[in-house]
Amino acid sequence: MSKQFPLAVALLLAAGTVSAQSGKIKVKAKPGRATTQPVALAAPVAETDWSLPYAATITPVGLKADLDVLASDAYEGRETGKKGQKMAADYIAKAFAADGLAGPVAGSDNPYIQHFGMRRTSLDLPASIVKAGGQTFQGKRDFYAVLTNEFAAPITLQPVFVGYGIKEDKYSDFATPADYTGKDIVLLAGEPLNAQGKSLIGAEGKPSAYAPATLAGLRARGRTIYRLGARSFIVVMPTAAAFAAAPKGYSMVLGREDLVFDGDKEKKGGVNIFVVSPEVGARLLGATPAGLDKYRQSVAKAGKAVASPFKPVDTATAQAKLNTEPFGTENVLGYLEGSDKKDEVIVLSAHYDHLGIKDGVVFNGADDDGSGTVSVLAMARAFSQAKKEGHGPRRSLLFLANTGEEEGLLGSQYYTDHPIFPLEKTVADLNIDMVGRVDSLHQGKGDYLYLVGADRLSTELNTLSEATNQQYNPVALDYKYNDPADPEQIYYRSDHYNFAKHNVPIIFYTSGLHPQYHKATDDVELIDFPAMARRDQLIFHTAWALAERDARVALKPELLPTGFTPVPADLDRYAGTYASAQIPLKIVVTHEAPPSRFRPPASPPFRSMP
Ligand SMILES: [Zn+2]
Repeated sequence: MSKQFPLAVALLLAAGTVSAQSGKIKVKAKPGRATTQPVALAAPVAETDWSLPYAATITPVGLKADLDVLASDAYEGRETGKKGQKMAADYIAKAFAADGLAGPVAGSDNPYIQHFGMRRTSLDLPASIVKAGGQTFQGKRDFYAVLTNEFAAPITLQPVFVGYGIKEDKYSDFATPADYTGKDIVLLAGEPLNAQGKSLIGAEGKPSAYAPATLAGLRARGRTIYRLGARSFIVVMPTAAAFAAAPKGYSMVLGREDLVFDGDKEKKGGVNIFVVSPEVGARLLGATPAGLDKYRQSVAKAGKAVASPFKPVDTATAQAKLNTEPFGTENVLGYLEGSDKKDEVIVLSAHYDHLGIKDGVVFNGADDDGSGTVSVLAMARAFSQAKKEGHGPRRSLLFLANTGEEEGLLGSQYYTDHPIFPLEKTVADLNIDMVGRVDSLHQGKGDYLYLVGADRLSTELNTLSEATNQQYNPVALDYKYNDPADPEQIYYRSDHYNFAKHNVPIIFYTSGLHPQYHKATDDVELIDFPAMARRDQLIFHTAWALAERDARVALKPELLPTGFTPVPADLDRYAGTYASAQIPLKIVVTHEAPPSRFRPPASPPFRSMP
C-alpha cells in the first residue's frame, strides 16, 4: 500500500513539537531556549494522540484496491471449501505477511492459516422419494425438500393435518391441544379465505403475511409451528402452478448444503421441510386434491377453522438421498504482538467467505463481507505501521479472517473452539460484516454505523465505544439492531456471536441490509468507499483505545466467574420446578444438552444468515 497517504506528513502534522524520528516520544528541549521562549516551555507537553495519523492511513483508495481483487469474478464468490475461498485465503495471508504481521498458528504448513476439515452434505433431490397410497413420488417432479440425516434411511411418515398451520386470535388451527412431537405435520400453503375470496385474517380482508405460498408464508408461521416439536413440515401447494413456482419461492433454502466439522456426527435434528404438489399432499392425507379444495371451501363457509375430515395414511414412507464429501477450509490469522500487556489480545474479525457461483453467476459479495475483510486488512496495516514506527499497541492484536460464516458461523466457531490465544485472555472481539453501503434508512447520509452487542457483556466496552466516537469525528451510532426484540436478531448472525457465547465482550459493526444482500449484484460498484473508510476509522480508534487502556474492559459483574462449579451429579439434584404462591414467577431448572449451533433455542428456523 505504498500509494496511500504519506505517513511522514501525517506524523509531522499530528506530532507538533514531538519528534517522530526516533520512534519514541521525546520533547525537543533545547537548552538555552527557555529564556527566549518561556511560554513554549511552560506549556504542558500535550500527549500526542498517535492513533490519528495511523487512522488516516485507512483510505477509500486503499480499501478499494483490496476489494477490487477479492470481490472480482476471479475469486469465484469465495465459497467455503472451494477454489475462490482458497485464493482469498492466500491473498489475505500474503497481505498479513507483507505488512509485517506474524503468523500465530503453530504446527500449520503456513503459520497464517488455521486449517480444518469438514464434510459437506447435499440432498440429491431427484433420487429422493416419498411413497404413499401405493404410489412412488419423486423429488423435483412431485416435491421439493430440505432434509436432514434423519431421512437417510426410509422412514415411515406420521402425517398430522393442521389446516393452514396458523395460530392467531382471529383464526386458529390449534384451538384443540395435541401432541405433535416427532410428527410430520401437513399444512396448506396460503391462507384461509372467505366465500368472497378475501382473507379471514388480514385487515379488511387484505392478504396477510400468511398468504404467499413461499418461504415467506412459511416463515410467518415459524413461531407457531417450530414450537410444536414436529419432525417435519409438509407444505401442500394449492395448485400445480403454485407447485411449479416452488423453486423460486423457496430458493433461500432449497439446495442448501449442510456442513459439519470433521469428527462431529452428522447433524441430528434440525428442521425438515417438504414442499409438495396437491397430489402428494392429498395422498398423505388419504384424500384427493378435490378433497383438499373441499376443505378450503368448508373453511370459507364457516369463516373459521374447521375440524380435519382427513384420515392421514400411516404407511407412507420418505427417503432422502444424501451425498457427503469431505473438504478442507481455513481461517486466516495475522498477529501483532503488544508491549507491556501482550498476553491480552483484542480480535478484529470479518468473514471472507461468500456464496460462490450459482447457475454460472458469481456472487461477488463485495459488501458481504468483502467490505469487512478489506477493513481488517487496512487496520492490520495501520497498526503494523504504528508498531514499526515505535507506536505499537500495549495489548496484542489478532486480525482474524473467518471462513464458513455464510454456512453457519463455522470459521469463528472453529477458532473459538480451538483458540490460538486463550479466550480468558481475549479482551474483546470487534467484528465487521457489511460496512460498505448506505441502507434505505440512511439514504444520502453515509456517516452512520449500526452497533450491535456493545453493551451486552461489558458496560465499560460500551462506554469506551461511545466516548471514542465522540472524540474522533463522530458518526451517528445507530442501535436499532441492538434491541433484543428486533426481528432481525443480528446479535446471533455473524461471527462475533461465537466470542460472545464464551463471554468475550464484542461489538458488531454493520451498515445494514440492502436490496443486493445475498444477490449476485452485491458488487464493488455499489460500495460507498468514503463512508466505509470513515466507519473503519472509528473501529480502528476503538481497537486502539481497547489496546491502550490500563485495565482491560471488564465483564458485567453478573457475568464474572463465580468459581462455583457443581459436579454433574449435583446438577441433576438441582433440577426441578421452583415456585411460590407469593411470587408470580416459576423457575424451572432442567438438565439438558446445550442448544445446537448458534441460534437462540426459541427462534424460528427459517431465518437466513448474513
Ligand atoms: Zn452473508
